[in-house]
Amino acid sequence: MSDSTREKTELGNYFVANYPPFSFWKPSFLSEALKVLNSPPEKSTPLGLYAHIPFCRKRCKFCYFRVYTDKNARDVDSYLDAIINEISLCSRLPVRGGRELDFVYFGGGTPSYLSVNQLEKLFNGIKNSFSWSGSREVTFECEPGTLQQHKLAALREMGVTRLSLGVENFSDEILESNGRAHHAAEIFRAFSWARELGFPLINIDLIAGMIGETTENWRDCINKTLEISPDCITIYQLELPFNTVFSKELKQVNQPDPLSISDWPTKRSWVKYAFDTFLANGYEISSAYTLVKNKARMKFVYRDELWHGADMFGTGVASFGHINGIHLQNLDAWENYLGELQKGVIPLGRALPVTPHQRLIREMILQLKTGYLESGYFENKFKLDIFKEFGAQWESLEREGWIKLGQNSAKVTMDGLLQVDRLLPRFFEPEHLNARYT
Ligand code: SF4
Repeated sequence: MSDSTREKTELGNYFVANYPPFSFWKPSFLSEALKVLNSPPEKSTPLGLYAHIPFCRKRCKFCYFRVYTDKNARDVDSYLDAIINEISLCSRLPVRGGRELDFVYFGGGTPSYLSVNQLEKLFNGIKNSFSWSGSREVTFECEPGTLQQHKLAALREMGVTRLSLGVENFSDEILESNGRAHHAAEIFRAFSWARELGFPLINIDLIAGMIGETTENWRDCINKTLEISPDCITIYQLELPFNTVFSKELKQVNQPDPLSISDWPTKRSWVKYAFDTFLANGYEISSAYTLVKNKARMKFVYRDELWHGADMFGTGVASFGHINGIHLQNLDAWENYLGELQKGVIPLGRALPVTPHQRLIREMILQLKTGYLESGYFENKFKLDIFKEFGAQWESLEREGWIKLGQNSAKVTMDGLLQVDRLLPRFFEPEHLNARYT
């Protein structure tokens, strides 16, 4: 079997976003979750807020998020009332413990789908519950085709510090065949407005391996990225979780031609080309997916705090959060989510208490995605030597060439970074190995 046969892009998840796997989160743990929410926090743990805006102009064919493309202005308004209400309920929970927000993240869906009036309503609503004047970072995800200059100006005015543009590709043909709603011209227009308005940090997302991608086009995407010169570049590799349009089409004969989906070695070679090119042009690696212009100055607070065990209220339909040692996810159906909030109830759908050992594994595998970790952090926090506890796993990673071990540290090699998510399950507890991830 050749490498590429063995590594075809099959149905299922590649990306390890959290631990333990989502398939272990259950409604039966909700009573325990409520106890945690109604208890004081560990005071020194930073607190963040994620707000999920689930609207999109079109559903991208590779998308696996909870999104709606059929809601009218009245629906959007009801949703904003609901999420503002939810944030207010969260702000009054004992587990808040007087903490303000260290970071805020508007994700989706497409937060920039909202009009300026709707955005003002949302931001003002949140500010009635939390003062975020002390927040170190307010991230806002955008789809380029939904942006106008006045909307970006309003976002800047309202305090957004990190603007993230879902570019994905610069070829109109590829954008269209993957179901994206925007075109390349809208990327350039939105980016130059954002620059003129002086956002402190602008990130763009790219995806390696979209349907129709070629080496030549990918190189062109990298050149165009260099031309606009974002502060931060995030590169994902296309995967096919079970609930995407592509995954459903794949199950039907010749829809689309499975051969047109690039295999993993090809996607890795494209990411490697991108990393090499950006490194040669002054960028630095900030994680297996991210390059930044100035690592010391350009932090990604949301990612770094979460990967070091911060608390975060995950608000909005189907949102994920983590508070004081417990994973939480909201109800994932529109009617149920809104219905619970109309009754004044926090709309939780399922939860999972995370043991201290699982918290250690979670932070260790997430931090490994940055390409580097030190054992001292874990010794301080969990009173455990990770290189002893997981000796066999570290030894196998080093033997296979994915990491280099130092005295008290592990550094992921370039080959390791390109496939880091594939390497992480070896740290999972036995019951989570070979289990479905989502
Ligand atoms: S814009 Fe983002 S959230 Fe919306 S459908 Fe596309 S990938 Fe999914």
